[in-house]
Amino acid sequence: MSEKKETVIRIHGAGLQIGREAITVSSEGTTILLDYGVLMTDRKPEFPEKVVPSTINAVFLSHAHLDHSGGLPLLYLRGGPPVYTTTLTARISELLIEDMLNISRYYIPYEELELKEMLDKVNPVTFNQKVHVRNLELETLNAGHIPGSLMAKVRTKAGNVLFTGDFNTTDTRLLEGARPDVSDVDALIMESTYASTDHPERNALEREFVAKVKEVVEGGGTALVPAFAVGRSQEIISVLRAQNYEGPIYLDGMAREATKIMAGFPKYIKNYDEFRKVAKSVKIVKGIREREKVLKNPGVVVSPAGMLRGGAVMYYLENIVKDHKNGIFLVSFQIPGTPGRVLLDTGKIPLNGKLVDVGDMTHFFDFSAHSGRKELIDFVKMLNGGAKVILIHGEPSTTLAFRDTLLDMGIDAVAANNGDSFVLSRR
Ligand SMILES: [Zn+2]
Ligand SMILES: [Zn+2]
Repeated sequence: MSEKKETVIRIHGAGLQIGREAITVSSEGTTILLDYGVLMTDRKPEFPEKVVPSTINAVFLSHAHLDHSGGLPLLYLRGGPPVYTTTLTARISELLIEDMLNISRYYIPYEELELKEMLDKVNPVTFNQKVHVRNLELETLNAGHIPGSLMAKVRTKAGNVLFTGDFNTTDTRLLEGARPDVSDVDALIMESTYASTDHPERNALEREFVAKVKEVVEGGGTALVPAFAVGRSQEIISVLRAQNYEGPIYLDGMAREATKIMAGFPKYIKNYDEFRKVAKSVKIVKGIREREKVLKNPGVVVSPAGMLRGGAVMYYLENIVKDHKNGIFLVSFQIPGTPGRVLLDTGKIPLNGKLVDVGDMTHFFDFSAHSGRKELIDFVKMLNGGAKVILIHGEPSTTLAFRDTLLDMGIDAVAANNGDSFVLSRR
């Protein structure tokens, strides 16, 4: 009689929530940790369920966003396992985690030292690479989410597990969409951020966005684009130039450093020569004095934070709300409870303790870096019959409704909660 092989998948974070993603895949005494993020709200940062570093044989880090990377240094208080990720992800994670350590009003249970220790343990990988972690094989695949982002396929004797991280199957200006081979996948751990939303057609969205921006700038105003430092800011400046906006673009806040780092990694940018040109055409704002000057000339300002929770964008916001020839362009999903969401829902923005009415200045464009509902369904349809779909990384109502959709399609789907385990077995 042959021995039964088992692989256990455990969800330590990002179950029915967006944030603090962490999953382990264990088989035959070997464990790989997939991401270890943080959940940042206005309250205390929350980390995933505890894992014992000595029980982890390797870490796979999908991409740099803090909801995937921000808890990792916790594993490096004393030694710690090797980390497989791209060099670009390591560089950007360092930037984002250092920023979190610097600005957090709350206690973070690790320091710069643990971050450095973690970065020292990075074994750089790129797309389509296979590495062996004892008896398991880890294959890296393009995720199409932000520059340097990866998916992982873990091959075990009891079956193959595909972990999507955050992913986008649609091509954008900056990135090629994810196109992994899913024919040999037995369990799919998939994000579901946009499982209830269909994204608009990209080209039409770009044209509409740039037309509105031009209207504001030609009317003598400033078009302020609050955008995430990593990924979205670079996509927005690329879209503006690709759609023939020739006026000034100013880049401020952490987007400056992130853009500089990305420009050093040609293989993670779809059209690198084009991106170099775009990045060169953009003016970097160097300090407060220059910010004053920027506002004297019509143009576009791209600056974090994307949901108006602080950052360089606040300086511009406070100034441009005084004149309604200016415009505020929200270009990403706004999490409930953030000032950006308040603005989107009410047309008013909380500024210095007062609610300022800027409804007629506010525009929303859904430039997502995640697959939308249709793309997620198309992706799941490519799986072999019998494959299990484990949904994570979504608002509860979204993920639960999407699970029901998949069940109706005859797919073995679950909406995983934190602490849930799933077993693959094969004789
Ligand atoms: Zn992400
Ligand atoms: Zn994420």
